[in-house]
Parts: sequence; structure tokens; C-alpha cells
Amino acid sequence: MHYEGNIIRPPSEAESILLQVTVGCSHNKCTFCGTYRGERFTIKKDSIIFEDIEFAAQYCKRQTRLFICDGDALIIPQRRLVLILERIKSRVPWVERIGLYANTKSIKMKSSEELEELRELGVKIAYMGLETGDDVTLKRINKGADSSRMVEMGRKIRKAGIQLSITVLIGIAGRERSHIHATETGRVLSAIDPEYVGALSLMLIPGTPMHKEYQNGNFELITPDEMLTELGTMISTTHLSSGLFHANHASNYLPIRARLPHDKEKTLALIARALEGKVNLKPEYMRAL
Ligand code: SF4
Repeated sequence: MHYEGNIIRPPSEAESILLQVTVGCSHNKCTFCGTYRGERFTIKKDSIIFEDIEFAAQYCKRQTRLFICDGDALIIPQRRLVLILERIKSRVPWVERIGLYANTKSIKMKSSEELEELRELGVKIAYMGLETGDDVTLKRINKGADSSRMVEMGRKIRKAGIQLSITVLIGIAGRERSHIHATETGRVLSAIDPEYVGALSLMLIPGTPMHKEYQNGNFELITPDEMLTELGTMISTTHLSSGLFHANHASNYLPIRARLPHDKEKTLALIARALEGKVNLKPEYMRAL
């Protein structure tokens, strides 16, 4: 496989074939993100991508999932993306699920019919970073969309029959807006009603604008207990018809995996016990991104 630069994938794609079709992220402006800082976004040449599909056809015979890397592969023009998906379908036909990252810009660029065409060609899940439903914080972190656009695009991709996994970031609004961030995120998640929510806990990355804000005293990192309180408020204000709410990423202090609404009360009780000191939290040195 011809991998270039930083390769990232969602935790749930750990066993997937990782096919890199783009380098970097087409947005690359979120103030907390250091993943692709300094990397120029490019779409790789078809010849390289097709060579990698051949590699998968020969050596990845047991993997039934494939993840198209990197940041935001949905931005690829439809005709090229269709060619890549058709090649995967013909050369790696045992792949049952293709996943990719999407953002509001790339979803907006595709018509509903185009999204349905991608689903027909195997794209079954898209991962979208919401981070927060709080408009003030979305602007501050330079996410490139407000909450109403997030809701619109999240619903659009789900309507096309593509499952949606949304990432939110505990602690991203600092101390002052922590409660608003939690309730507004609950509001937006409820409006989109995705199949999956993944909550990560903020870790500051040196060199990012947010880290500089923190160093200058313009951003307050909340404590582990405050993060748990925020997570509890978010879960209690999130109303999903039947979604999986995960907070079991390496960055989280307390692993949570809840089917909502079924597990809501049990999960809130677990958080309450953790806040009373009755459940051990992950030590700081074991956290990672
Ligand atoms: S958080 Fe996602 S969209 Fe934002 S810069 Fe990083 S990779 Fe790009």
C-alpha cells in the first residue's frame, strides 16, 4: 500500500482495509486539530489507488470492511469516486462495508441521488465530526459550519441510506460554555438522530491554535470531573431513536457504551458514581488520541 503522511481512521475501522485516496484534509482549519497541520490536501493519482486495490485483492482476503482514507474522501468528484468504488466492487468483492469521512462541505457538494449511488456501490457508513452543537463554539474552533448546517447535512446523508457516525468533543467549549456545549450538542444529535455517536475527550496538541489560546490564558481546559459532568448532561439531553453512544476512546476517562434510549438511566447512574469517586477513572498517563 502507498501510504503518505498521517493516516487516521475511526476506532471502529481498526480491522478494515485502509485504502488511502486523499492526503490530508480538505478543510484543515479546526483550531484543536493537529493531524494534518502543514499538509497540503491532494487526491492521489488513480494509478496509485488502483495499484493499492490490486494489493487488497491479493493480500486482504479476510477483511470484509474497507475504509477510504484520509480526511474527507467524500470531497472527491463523483465520477472519480464512482470509478474507485466500482474497482473495489469488482476486484475486492468480499468487502461488505465501505466507510469514509465526510464533512458538511463534501455532503453539500453531492446531490441526494449521488449519495444514493455511492450507497449502492458499497458506502454504508460516513463519519462526520460535529464536535459541538454550540454555534459560538463551532465558530470559535473554525469548524466551517453552524449547527443548522450540521443538522441539514447529517439528515441528508442518513436519508440517502448511509449510516452516520458523529464525533463530539468533551471539553471543547472550555469551562464557561461547558453546560451550553453539552445541551446544544444533545439538541443537534437528537435532531440528526445518527446510528452512532463517538465522544472523545479533548487533549490539547502542541502547535495548534487552541493550544496557543490555552498557553495565553484564553482557553480553560476543564477537569476530568467537569468532563464527566459535561458528558452526563450531553447524554441526558440526547434523544436517539436507537443509536449507540460510545465514549470508550483512548482519550476518555470513563469508558461508556450505551444504546440510547435503553441504557440512558444506567449510564447516567454510572457517571454519578464516578463523580462520587466510586468508580476508577483512567489515569492521565494512559490517555491518548
Ligand atoms: S478535525 Fe477533521 S475536519 Fe477539522 S481539520 Fe482535523 S481532520 Fe480536518
